[in-house]
Amino acid sequence: MLLYKSGLKKCINEPKIKIASPFKFSENTTYGLGGTAIAAYFPRTVYEAKIAFDRLTLNAIPFEILGNGSNVLASDKGISGAVISTKNLRGIIRLDKNRLLCLAGTRTGELLTYCKNNLLGGLEYLYGIPATVGGAAYMNAGVNGAAIGNDIESVRVYDGKSYLLTREKCNFAYRHSTMRDINALILSIIVNVYDSSSDEIEERITYYRQRRSHLPKGKSCGCVFKNPEGTSAGYLIEKAGLKGLRLGGAYVSEQHASFIINEGGSAYDVKSLIDIVKTKVLEKFGILLNEEVVYIGEFNDFDG
Ligand SMILES: Cc1cc2nc3c(=O)[nH]c(=O)nc-3n(C[C@H](O)[C@H](O)[C@H](O)COP(=O)(O)OP(=O)(O)OC[C@H]3O[C@@H](n4cnc5c(N)ncnc54)[C@H](O)[C@@H]3O)c2cc1C
Repeated sequence: MLLYKSGLKKCINEPKIKIASPFKFSENTTYGLGGTAIAAYFPRTVYEAKIAFDRLTLNAIPFEILGNGSNVLASDKGISGAVISTKNLRGIIRLDKNRLLCLAGTRTGELLTYCKNNLLGGLEYLYGIPATVGGAAYMNAGVNGAAIGNDIESVRVYDGKSYLLTREKCNFAYRHSTMRDINALILSIIVNVYDSSSDEIEERITYYRQRRSHLPKGKSCGCVFKNPEGTSAGYLIEKAGLKGLRLGGAYVSEQHASFIINEGGSAYDVKSLIDIVKTKVLEKFGILLNEEVVYIGEFNDFDG
């Protein structure tokens, strides 16, 4: 453990990358939950991101990659490793008329503002999804059949070597991409956009804003569960009579049953509630719900 810690310290001291030590998941995830990581790197450039990745790998230090932390549940115990946060890895470059290169930590909101200012349309469905573009590509985030994978031309990833995954190679599917199956850091994406008038853009944003106005407020990760084929997780949870079910400081939203809200609870509360919901829906409908939320760290009976 001592060697391990000194390895991490060496990692930290070498590059001039912004570092937080310890790193609190509770302050860096939309759930506002979770313990700590030993340290986190906040690279601002692709060069720094590669160095962070290389140093951690070289020193055999386990690490997690975090975008805006809007789709993760981190264990109360945290992790005995590090984090690469892409929060500062931001920037948009217009490659040509209808192609934008975005660094992985660029927020979807920033991207939409850029598009609006430059009369570029096509990504309005990202409105209100509190993601970085790297996290959105990884999850193939979207809404109502629209998903970022359809608009991505390519994704640049790094796993010790930098390479480009074309859209075909990304194998985008419902909340899935190739990036979920490989151990790589997404550095940037190229998205396709099209010319649009200010009024058209505003109209589409208004449409998505209204659609989202009914979503629950409070600390969450959005939908906890993926929709099973042909039905919705929220519908099944509601029909199983689980709306409003509470465990410690976590509860199933009355407004949208696929949301579990944290109200002063712990990651253990949220995870236990997820397990209960899965069990009850399985008992009632014979359907096993799969999580959309990504777990970080260990969850077991001794958490909490
Ligand atoms: C209020 C609310 C509403 C939401 N609504 C929607 C919605 O309508 N549609 C939808 O699809 N999602 C929705 N979400 C979920 C979430 O915003 C998306 O899944 C989003 O894509 C996660 O992006 P992130 O940057 O926060 O990723 P994180 O939560 O930080 O990470 C998610 C996963 O991506 C990986 N990852 C992130 N960045 C990188 C990178 N650069 N390289 C490699 N791996 C990376 C992480 O390791 C992790 O496994 C919602 C969440 C909230 C809180």
